[in-house]
Amino acid sequence: MNPVYTALGTTIFEAMSARARATGAINLGQGFPDGRGPEDVLAEAARALIEESNQYPPMAGTPALRQAVADHYRVHQGLDLDASEVIVTSGATEALAAAIFALVSPGDEVVMFQPLYDAYLPLVQRAGGVAKLVRLEPPEWRITADALAAVASDRTRLVLLNSPLNPTGTMIGPDELALLADFCVAHDAIAICDEVWEHVVFDGRQHRSLMAQPGMRDRTVKIGSAGKIFSLTGWKVGWLCAAPAISSVLAKAHQFLTFTTPPNLQAAAAFGLGKDIAYFEEMRAGYQRSRDRLAAGLTGLGYTVLPSAATYFLNIDLAASGVDMDDVAFARWLLEEAGVATIPVSAFYAENAVRSVVRLCFAKQDATLDAALERMTRRP
Ligand code: PMP
Ligand code: GLN
Repeated sequence: MNPVYTALGTTIFEAMSARARATGAINLGQGFPDGRGPEDVLAEAARALIEESNQYPPMAGTPALRQAVADHYRVHQGLDLDASEVIVTSGATEALAAAIFALVSPGDEVVMFQPLYDAYLPLVQRAGGVAKLVRLEPPEWRITADALAAVASDRTRLVLLNSPLNPTGTMIGPDELALLADFCVAHDAIAICDEVWEHVVFDGRQHRSLMAQPGMRDRTVKIGSAGKIFSLTGWKVGWLCAAPAISSVLAKAHQFLTFTTPPNLQAAAAFGLGKDIAYFEEMRAGYQRSRDRLAAGLTGLGYTVLPSAATYFLNIDLAASGVDMDDVAFARWLLEEAGVATIPVSAFYAENAVRSVVRLCFAKQDATLDAALERMTRRP
């Protein structure tokens, strides 16, 4: 067969969710909440659908949403973005594709960190880029100067960073941010920062963008997602933020990918971004309670739970939990025998995978978490 037809595999998220649907397993695999999301944001989407235009909005996004994104980051992260520096995309997934297709030319080296989100490697490779992988180790998953130096070359063009990091639930620290900023400046590299989890952070933590580091304002592409901010993962409204010299190039890629994004969802996202701080604090507090509930339950069942500072996810360390199976075998056993879907973390590695960590999504109702824990009283 033409190799084009076999080059792309099926993502682990679809594989596990399809199997969970087929078997009736409780799905703690793919990351999505099982609540309804904020009613006022839903109502604004419905209102805009009925009362406003449903024809193509402007290619770079509605003026209202572009302004709302810029205002939101000024209030919540102290960034000084202008609305003209924001491009609305159909989810962060499209933002990633647009950034990579716009900025990676064949032979360019892209520094990425393992574990890495499933879309990164296929997109970089399809763009002709060369992945330079830095392997992060549990339980800290830290980026070090030595690891960065080992992947640097005169063909380094981009750094692709995800923080807070899916699947580990960790956040990049001030020392790592400084390290990455120095690295990008020294190599004249652009940083693509996937910050979709920026609001889902716990225990009073505050997200910091690489864009705010000295020297990074004009060489950072910051990516966000309304799906994550409003617990509405099916919505697929995202955005790219970058200085004009970069955002004008990103817009070129975006115009040939989706061109635009449904206008009523843009209206609702713009409305939601203006919600007051209490909404974001309550959202975080709710997920933090769910994290603690699942972590306590798993600990009670004898599992070693790795710390989760952010995202919808926590991880269990199988070896430390006395489970004599690798992550794929355990995830398969748990799904087929106990009826709980999870994600084996080795799926987030291109090579030299960590094979003893399994990811669980805690963004669920208490009853869902309790039912999953009940099923997990069976151990392999
Ligand atoms: N990047 C990361 C790190 C993610 O975890 C996700 C989805 N959870 C995305 C991108 C995709 O976001 P969206 O649904 O807005 O496309
Ligand atoms: N980001 C979600 C997760 O990590 C999945 C998104 C998807 O299915 N593409 O579970």
